[in-house]
Amino acid sequence: MCYLPQDNDSLRGHPLHKLLRPLAALSALVLAGCAAQAGGADGDDFLMFGGPIFSDGGSAQADGSTQVIPAEALVVRDGKVVFAGDLATARSQAKGLPLVDLKGAAAYPGFVDSHVHLTGVGLREMTLNLDQVGSVAELTAAVKAWNASHPGPEPLAGRGWIETHWPEKRFPNRADLDAVVADRPVVLGRADGHAAVLNSAALKLAGITRDTTDPAGGRIERDAAGEPTGMLIDTAQGLIDARLPPMSLAVRREALEKAVALYAARGWTGAANMSTDAADVKVLFALAADRKLPIAVDVFMTPQDAGEVLRRGPYSDPTGLVRVRGVKLYMDGALGSRGALLLAPYSDQPATSGLQIAQHDETLAILKQALRVRADVAFHAIGDAGNRQALDWMAEAFASDPAAAKAVRWRIEHSQIVNPADIPRFRKLGVVASMQPSHAIGDLYFAPARLGPDRLQGAYAWRSLTRSGALVIGGTDAPVEVGDPRIEFYAAAVRKDLKGASAPDWHPEEALNRVQALALFTVNPAQADHRPEGWGRLVVGSPANITVFSRELLTAQEADIPTARPVLTVVNGRIVHDAR
Ligand SMILES: [Zn+2]
Repeated sequence: MCYLPQDNDSLRGHPLHKLLRPLAALSALVLAGCAAQAGGADGDDFLMFGGPIFSDGGSAQADGSTQVIPAEALVVRDGKVVFAGDLATARSQAKGLPLVDLKGAAAYPGFVDSHVHLTGVGLREMTLNLDQVGSVAELTAAVKAWNASHPGPEPLAGRGWIETHWPEKRFPNRADLDAVVADRPVVLGRADGHAAVLNSAALKLAGITRDTTDPAGGRIERDAAGEPTGMLIDTAQGLIDARLPPMSLAVRREALEKAVALYAARGWTGAANMSTDAADVKVLFALAADRKLPIAVDVFMTPQDAGEVLRRGPYSDPTGLVRVRGVKLYMDGALGSRGALLLAPYSDQPATSGLQIAQHDETLAILKQALRVRADVAFHAIGDAGNRQALDWMAEAFASDPAAAKAVRWRIEHSQIVNPADIPRFRKLGVVASMQPSHAIGDLYFAPARLGPDRLQGAYAWRSLTRSGALVIGGTDAPVEVGDPRIEFYAAAVRKDLKGASAPDWHPEEALNRVQALALFTVNPAQADHRPEGWGRLVVGSPANITVFSRELLTAQEADIPTARPVLTVVNGRIVHDAR
């Protein structure tokens, strides 16, 4: 067992807290040993009991069975599960070990968020957060208030608005923003990250006029007179991004530190960080070295910063907590802003079929190089044409090196609208479907309008994909969504919005059973993430990655799932969140 004084904060109120004090002096001696342990294991040894422990929660998912018998007790030593079973045997094996009493709460294998943007999660906490805004009027009021409390000439940045529920039924525009802030650039990202609205000062800063042509893979929205409305879609956002001051390393670190702390507190034990740049990797490595990284983070680089991982293959920091796995690529945009690439035009805008961002030849070169060094590829594809093409291109690369194809775990991020004919191709090619259940319960308000009834057949089809034998993993895409394991589990298993509403064209038959839903966040990511046998479960030999919720998710009433409280989070045996 490894003790470090910095850990004491996370243990405040925990019985181990007292134990640690006299050992603080020893910490320098054990530091080297701790760092050397795989996965940064420096856990608290303990006997966990007092609530159902779903030691094998997801392993029954292949046959769709929902029969899961929880263990009574778990013994953890040196970051690993050494016993799972009945309490009497556990007690005899764990004499003298500290007790962790669940007091009726339920323990699960550690939840993993397979798609997140941690820097964005942290920044959302630090800048103007618009995710609760319910109308254009509320949006402008929020901007006005923020401008008053954060005056200055520098651009005012915000993010998180989503107009799909707004009474005005339209995108915000520059006139809305000019009316409240005219003397300072304002740039407000839509929640999905695929669009932003700018005021006139920001358009000027970006150099955008009626004569500016749309960049490849993007669109400058224009009114009937041809004037830019302020809305920039997909790569057109690059026109303003290039003019904004780069994020300082200090801000980056603050954002990532906030995000990982928030994630541990929500019950996540691991996350796959998408579109990571080199500066973020530096900060993540530093956080791990400084023992400020409570959860495990897998990293997929932006194409611009993927040079190193594509040259040397996957690598990790000395603690093993941060693993740079590969590269994230974009095939298309998002459905809400009509950037998703569709096989047929949008039902509510027949002039467009979406945007193709990736180009074949240069993408194939990246895919083949990734195969050569066994790096993983996370390919963003939302539309049915985007998904088909991503599968086609991956198949083309795999054919060039079948042995390497078996060694990698490539994935399609979102796999959101898939033509039913393409569903079996995921399993056949060994491509992982990385899906975000909460997208469905948010998008299904506007998806029927965008797609029409026929194309909803293969939309957010995690049950059909699971049935086809594809490996499906669950994520949040936060800050696009909240980033909450309870909401994702609920959406996967219930497929209704948080108020319990649904509609026939939401395809309720695509809901998973509870065990399958649990697998999306536990055993399935373990497999997709090249983790050894035992990961994603709590059996002898498993790493002690444990998520404890106040409710029993496998049997709770639907409405009670989102109100479960994250009680305890354990990573490699280390208690990183304790709200018992
Ligand atoms: Zn994303």
